[in-house]
Order: sequence, then C-alpha cells, then structure tokens
Amino acid sequence: MRFHKAEHAFFVFIFVILAAGVVTLHAYGLLESTAAQMEDVAEARQNISYLGTLLFAVGVLLATAFFFGVLFIYPLIRGQVREEGKLRAMTATLSARSVTLEQAALTDGLTGMQNRRFFDDALREYIAEFRRIGKPVGLMILDLDHFKSINDTHGHDVGDDVLRAVADCLKSMTRYHDVVARLGGEEFAVVAPNMDEELLRKFAERIRKGVANLTILNGNVRLKVTTSVGLAVWDTSETAEAFYRRADKQLYEAKRQGRNRVCAA
Ligand code: GH3
Ligand code: MG
Ligand code: MG
Repeated sequence: MRFHKAEHAFFVFIFVILAAGVVTLHAYGLLESTAAQMEDVAEARQNISYLGTLLFAVGVLLATAFFFGVLFIYPLIRGQVREEGKLRAMTATLSARSVTLEQAALTDGLTGMQNRRFFDDALREYIAEFRRIGKPVGLMILDLDHFKSINDTHGHDVGDDVLRAVADCLKSMTRYHDVVARLGGEEFAVVAPNMDEELLRKFAERIRKGVANLTILNGNVRLKVTTSVGLAVWDTSETAEAFYRRADKQLYEAKRQGRNRVCAA
C-alpha cells in the first residue's frame, strides 16, 4: 500500500501525540513518587496533587486526540486518497480512449492505412518542415485502372480484397518516413521525403510494377490489377494544395496516355 503525503503528515501527528502521552505518563509517575516522599509538607502535597490532576487531564485529552485521529481523521484521509486514485485511473482511461478515437479518425477502415484527413495534414506538415531544412519532397498519387470493372465482374467484396492487397503492397514497398494513405475509393497517395525527381520516378516505377505483379485469388480465378501514377516534386514555394493538384494532373495524364504508367510534372 502506498501512502499519500497527507497520510504521512497524519502519522507524524499520531507519533507526536503518542510521544507526548509517554512523557505525560512518565511525569505523572515521577510526581506521584515525589508526593509520597513529601507527606509532611501538606500544602506542597496539595499543589503537587493538583498538578497530578492536570497531568492526568492532559493524558485524557491526548488519548482523546489519538482515538479521534485513528478512528475519524484517518479513515477520512484514506477515503479521499482512494477517491483520488480512482479519479486518476479514470483520467488515464479517458485519455487512452481519446488517443484510440483520434487514431480511428485518421485511419482508413478497409485497409488500415492512413486516410485522406491524415494525408492532408501530413503533406502540409512535411512541406513546412522541408522548407526549413531545404530538402526535396516527392508526391505520388495512384489510381487503379478500370477498377469499376473488377467490382462489376466479381462483386464489391472481391473489389475490397483487391484494395487491401494493393494497400499491403504499398505499405511493404515504402519506407518508414513515407506517408502512405488511401485517399478514397481506389485512389492512394505516397508522400516521399528526401526524393528528387529521378529517385521518385524510379520509386514510382517499382511500385507500379509491384502492383502489376500482384495476383489476387478469388476461388479459382486469379485477378490482376494495374495502376496509373502521377508524380510531382515540391517546387519549394507552392502550397500543399497546389502541389497536390500538380501531381493529380499527371495522374490524369497517365490515364489519358493509356494507363498502367507513371507521368511526372
Ligand atoms: P479508371 O481507370 O479511369 O480509373 O477507371 P475506374 O473504373 O478505376 O474508375 P471509376 O472512377 O469509373 O470507378 C471507380 C470504382 O471504384 C467505382 C466504385 O464503385 C469503386 N469503389 C470506390 N470505393 C470502393 C470500395 O471501398 N470498395 C470497392 N469494392 N469499390 C470501390
Ligand atoms: Mg480508377
Ligand atoms: Mg478513381
């Protein structure tokens, strides 16, 4: 059992009362024996006997304070400490729950990856940080090709399996500091810090091939999927929105040129 500061103070209080009680008892005994030795001096004996009565009263008061402290004050303190402990535990649970809620609000339910909201915030924060340190930031936007026909042919659940498989592929092919998000539907994004245009293009090609090499099993059917990719490297002055629009335009260009390809600004 751990004690609260107020409890320690209470124990000191009780110890002082006990010490005072012991000293009082000792003085009382001494007084009695002194009085016995002075039987012939009547007045002195009377005074000493009166002092003895006073000491006795002090003893009674100390005993009352002692029992009052033990039986009344201490349970009060103990109760308060217990209440405080409960409150602290409740606060800890609540803050843990709010962290979980916060995480849920930033996570995509289907794939378990970050969602659009997280992506928007992360892109803005990365840009602010990389403006400070003067390093490049790459952005990749991916949209699966003819995904609607997968849903139409094999059903929505199979479409979901394809989305999860692509999400796993993206997660496994990216680095710790990359932000990988599902922006919605069959659209994904990767924010790749410290990547210039050449590195980003190679990285995007690897990912495009990685997705094209996926095989999603649906019973006996082996499904294949491809993705178009739009790229942009931050120009060090544009806003996150303008940066995003530039990469998105390249995605549109990749679709226009026939899909399953990477286009860069
Ligand atoms: P494009 O190559 O031009 O991108 O063609 P597309 O068919 O991929 O694009 P389109 O925008 O026509 O269709 C996207 C489809 O994605 C339509 C929608 O039903 C499907 N979709 C969006 N969200 C989900 C989802 O969470 N699960 C599944 N299974 N399908 C989804
Ligand atoms: Mg699509
Ligand atoms: Mg789309």
